[in-house]
Amino acid sequence: MDDAVADKLIDGVAVAKLVRAEVAKDAAALIARGVTPGLTVVLVGDDPASAVYVRSKEKACIEAGMNGVTIRLPAETTQDELLALIDKLNVDPTVHGILVQMPPPKHINPQAVILRIAAEKDVDGFHPVNVGRIWIGEKSGFAPCTPAGVMVLLEKAGVKVSGANVVVLGRSTIVGKPMTSLLVNASATVTVCHSKTKDLAAVTRRADILIAAIGRPEFVTADMVKPGAVVIDVGINRVEDATQKKGYRIVGDVAFATVSEVASKITPVPGGVGPMTIAMLLKNTVRAAAQGLA
Ligand code: NDP
Repeated sequence: MDDAVADKLIDGVAVAKLVRAEVAKDAAALIARGVTPGLTVVLVGDDPASAVYVRSKEKACIEAGMNGVTIRLPAETTQDELLALIDKLNVDPTVHGILVQMPPPKHINPQAVILRIAAEKDVDGFHPVNVGRIWIGEKSGFAPCTPAGVMVLLEKAGVKVSGANVVVLGRSTIVGKPMTSLLVNASATVTVCHSKTKDLAAVTRRADILIAAIGRPEFVTADMVKPGAVVIDVGINRVEDATQKKGYRIVGDVAFATVSEVASKITPVPGGVGPMTIAMLLKNTVRAAAQGLA
């Protein structure tokens, strides 16, 4: 990477480190008041990718001085058994955040699981109560961790969101929609695009800030980006690569090599939005613990 591109990078690893240091400080203050913030992650089944995510969440909690507990349940756990466990965690005063790793096995309805978690402990921010709180700009709500992490990246990179034309590419419940609500509340003018959007490149070219979250490897090309735009790449895609030991490499939704030439700032993949997600999960958990004291 040449110096000109390196200067444009928004370094998610560095920003996540800052957030995690803040979290550790806040956790220590709560511990001094007799409350150790605690996150309990529930993993049903043995999906290897989910197992990796869950381990890194537990490790991050412990590094921040918090309690990080993982409950591993067999794949044949019934929905009723899982809901009964959530009921117990909802009333456990040592548990401030509950996260059920998604997706659960097919016989479990993810929406039923999300609805069962007490909104005050829903640190993933997927419960409809939190979705509503974030839309109306109520501070007590928990925003989903990935879009919340994007907002922090923009802030730390000194990008002015208020008044900016922002295009969000993707309308998922996890990224695109909550991203939209956070941006609108930060006074951006937001356009949301999806698979039915007509003349997508004409829309994305109007963006001062372009946020790509569509799950298509290197989909956003330089001709879709206004010169000088800020580009945030949420995508995490595996593409085959025989030159790599693992046989694949990770790329984003943005064609980094060419888009980085026209953008004024850009997040890399890996090392951009990805590291922010767990940092924001820790932040939400500490907030849940503090709100419990209030
Ligand atoms: P989804 O598959 O749930 O949503 C994708 C969205 O992109 C949909 O709204 C879809 O439109 C839209 N889309 C797909 N293809 C096109 C196209 N050709 N043109 C325009 N729009 C299109 O994905 P997620 O939101 O869950 O994830 C998006 C990406 O972000 C993935 O790469 C994922 O791995 C990554 N991710 C990264 C995280 C992180 O921690 N950094 C966390 C979560 C996700 P429609 O609604 O019309 O189908």
